[in-house]
Amino acid sequence: MVTVQMSPEVQRVLGPDGMSQASREAQHADCAACTKRITGRANVVVTGADVMRVQVWFAHPGCMPSTVTELREPSRNPTDGMRMSSLPPLPGGHGRAVLVAELETPHFFADTPETELTDVLAPYLLRQGFVPVNDTATAPPLVERWLAVPATAPGIEVGGSLLTVLDDNAEAFFTGQVFTPARWRRAALESGECTLYYGPTKLDPASRDFPAQNRLLEAATRDGRLLAARVPCMDRATLRDAAASE
Ligand SMILES: [Zn+2]
Repeated sequence: MVTVQMSPEVQRVLGPDGMSQASREAQHADCAACTKRITGRANVVVTGADVMRVQVWFAHPGCMPSTVTELREPSRNPTDGMRMSSLPPLPGGHGRAVLVAELETPHFFADTPETELTDVLAPYLLRQGFVPVNDTATAPPLVERWLAVPATAPGIEVGGSLLTVLDDNAEAFFTGQVFTPARWRRAALESGECTLYYGPTKLDPASRDFPAQNRLLEAATRDGRLLAARVPCMDRATLRDAAASE
């Protein structure tokens, strides 16, 4: 017997009939995020709340919150609400400083209600050269035309950087304040690259507990939930020198 969990927002959108229908459908549902069969508890996710028809999906409690999201077209830049965590080179990892990006609220799109939900950024990242990864020991491919620039700026707390990550159209994949400990900055700037992971990990950008963060990252890679690529990384001074010598 699968027990459904619905946020107040989901309950409002579905109403009593929709809620009981969702409870029935949850008994034989696959997770919208990881596609595995759900047993025990299921979070109810609703898409398309702004139109007359809504679609109900189910997810493991650890995979997705119970939420209402719009049915969205794939968009290249839904980076509002993106969380970025950093980790110094991982023990047993491939030696690069690590960035981990995750959307605050997962956004999915579906061409038809029957199709599997696809993470809104995944097709874009795959086109850009990111690949699915299954461990953190293997270096993913380099996306040469991307660029990560950590900068110090007034108002940024100690140990933090204003980080900008640009894609190969020089459009911002991410810009915001990121905790970048000295070991992270040294490793990234000396090697001139860092590894960027994207996907649901539940890392905490404010955490200083790198072993715990590392375990979350490794669990996510083992589950095949992440895409990754190596991204060139330089500070502003190096960027200026490179521009001047061209
Ligand atoms: Zn799942």
